[in-house]
Amino acid sequence: MVKRVNLNHAAGNPVDKRVLKGMLPYFQEFYGNPSSVHFAGRQAAKAVANARMQIVKLLGADLKDKIVFTSGATEANNLALIGFAYRNRRKGNHIITSEVEHLSILNPLKFLVKQGFEVTRVPVDKHGVLKLEALKEAITDQTILLSIQHANNEVGTIQPIQEISDIAQDAKIPLHLDAVASTGQVPINLPDVGASLMTLSSNDLYGPRGVGALVIRRGTSIQPILLGGGQEMGLRSGSENVSGIVGMGIAAEIAADELAANSRHLTGLRDRLINGIIGKMEHTYLNGHPTDRLPNNANIRFSFIEGEAITLHLSFQGFLVATSSACTSRTLEPSHVLLSMGVDEAEAHGALQLTLGRDNTENHIDWFIEVLPPIIGRLREMSPLYPPS
Ligand code: PMP
Repeated sequence: MVKRVNLNHAAGNPVDKRVLKGMLPYFQEFYGNPSSVHFAGRQAAKAVANARMQIVKLLGADLKDKIVFTSGATEANNLALIGFAYRNRRKGNHIITSEVEHLSILNPLKFLVKQGFEVTRVPVDKHGVLKLEALKEAITDQTILLSIQHANNEVGTIQPIQEISDIAQDAKIPLHLDAVASTGQVPINLPDVGASLMTLSSNDLYGPRGVGALVIRRGTSIQPILLGGGQEMGLRSGSENVSGIVGMGIAAEIAADELAANSRHLTGLRDRLINGIIGKMEHTYLNGHPTDRLPNNANIRFSFIEGEAITLHLSFQGFLVATSSACTSRTLEPSHVLLSMGVDEAEAHGALQLTLGRDNTENHIDWFIEVLPPIIGRLREMSPLYPPS
């Protein structure tokens, strides 16, 4: 049987065993609805409140900050952008973001443009770092919100978030941070980063899918986008996914406790992987920032060949890898992140996104480094673009 090695954790993490164990009673034993006043309802409400506390602790947040549980990060991003824009419309109609955001940011912003808002997408440099001067220039007296990702899920670049936050605070513009890719990978302290809104995803913390959260700091007002029974402090109607929320809470607690050890483990594997490829094969380059990058991310581009072909060959050998964004790799469009970083279209097609997880070992990396070069060599032999003239 072919061994299976997952180097595509950005697309999905296995649920941590401890998380699953903690969730199971909430499917049968404690199935109450937190809105019910009876004993079972109170039990469920207590479990949800406990999960909120676990998230508050992970972020160093405050008990006065609201943690609104959603169906995932996409919904949390939609709630942050649309909910904030609608509630604060009278203050202005301009929102700033970057060119390299996830589609769950870029597409709600396209929707808002149709509703009369204006959006500026600030460019990034060749490493994927936001151009801070361009950010400053984009601010107008109509700007009501800045929405920036803490780290890029695709190329791993970590943004200079303190500097971005300082710019936002000087201009008195609230900051929304999409922290999906970075939570559990690098420390985040909400008061320090000065974000008014923050998006989190459960599965990126090794919790279940179908749960996420929007953190709303005290003093920030948003309007709900899902209307109904008024759950989640009136900000997200719908009976709570109690078992999922319990799972996300446990995952957050484990992520906080084990962050330093996990980060060390992943950084070691990531550097072994990068050093085993870059400089060992010609015409092979690292995408994203060389040092300010997520511990679990190596995005590598191989000139003259297609990422899809590499992915398929690696899959036959048991490796799960992805081409561009894990969430959009079904399209054959080149990655908007790589294009924005100035990578040309043909080269962008040759990029592999390798995302490591807690389950990976040095053996996995060594095996990958052994299997990869002959695949790249064979594909280049078949490529009409190779050797370069
Ligand atoms: N933001 C970022 C940075 C992401 O990487 C993703 C995808 N994992 C999302 C938002 C959306 O997450 P989901 O598809 O789980 O809703």
